[in-house]
Amino acid sequence: MLIVMQHGATPDQVRRVVAVIEELGYQARALPGKQRTAVGLVGNDGRVDASRLETLPGVQEIIHVSKPYKQVSREWQDEPTVVHLPGGVTVGGTEIVAIAGPCSVENEKQIIDTARLVKEAGAVILRGGAFKPRSSPYSFQGLGRPGLALLARAREETGLLVCTEAMDPEAVGWVAEVADIIQVGARNMQNFSLLKAVGRCGKPVLLKRGMAATITELLLSAEYLLAEGNRDVILCERGVRGFDTATRNLFDISAIPVVHKLSHLPIIADPSHGTGLREKVLPMARAAVAAGADGIMVEVHPNPDAALSDGAQTLYPGQFAQLMREVRVIADVIGRRVAEPAPVGA
Ligand code: PEP
Ligand code: MN
Repeated sequence: MLIVMQHGATPDQVRRVVAVIEELGYQARALPGKQRTAVGLVGNDGRVDASRLETLPGVQEIIHVSKPYKQVSREWQDEPTVVHLPGGVTVGGTEIVAIAGPCSVENEKQIIDTARLVKEAGAVILRGGAFKPRSSPYSFQGLGRPGLALLARAREETGLLVCTEAMDPEAVGWVAEVADIIQVGARNMQNFSLLKAVGRCGKPVLLKRGMAATITELLLSAEYLLAEGNRDVILCERGVRGFDTATRNLFDISAIPVVHKLSHLPIIADPSHGTGLREKVLPMARAAVAAGADGIMVEVHPNPDAALSDGAQTLYPGQFAQLMREVRVIADVIGRRVAEPAPVGA
């Protein structure tokens, strides 16, 4: 529920509203909107009796948020959220960001070579898993903490920001020390203890859609992050399970405009996991940007045929450079621009 204050409501009147919300046993959240002063009420799982609030001095109107998620909804906040990252990179504004790198961090040379080549092509954020959620326990599980140290080295070398996954609440602290963005993977989208820990970690979060999750479920998972006080949330469409085995997943491009309508949070697209097939990544990246994605996440490796995970969907360096060239043209057509990396050596 939102309590919208009259134009010119005094700080005392706002404090009174907050106090009454707390007396009723709920939590009050001040809302950052430029257009209006409002106080959000959270902590309820159903409709709240607003009679004590609507008569308070300075209150203009009460809006009941009709969706099961509250703070992530457009009803709660109409202006798009812009996530500010170090170095002036933004996600959710005019810029479109490219996040690129290997599926897994494998060794120092591999991650630094990849960082250099994706930066050269125009990525601003390096991806790479140190903790890998693998379907088989016998597959490469990632380097763990040493992999995080290698990502930090790659950032020192190139100035790229780092996005990497945390798989369990215990590891969130380690990942948060290194990552500029903490990734919550598809398999963990509804790991609520992880979401709570990541919501409290103080770093921006990339929340990937679960492989069998509805958009409502994705937004409810994002709500966990905002409920813990983390507003820097970026959503990611990465394909859902379909019936057709021609691609690894069914890449749901329509999720992009649907999420933009329902939520103020930015959403990026991952056509690598979305399709599972290297030659489908470029057309789907084009389509995602045309559909309004605020960024793309793509797997790239200096030698995809030798990659320790997800080689079949991983781009060769030349393919990634081509993708970036094409995506810049599409961004321009829709009045956006692709974020440029800082000059080499910066
Ligand atoms: C990944 O980004 O490497 C990954 C494991 O993705 P997802 O969680 O979408 O499968
Ligand atoms: Mn992968």
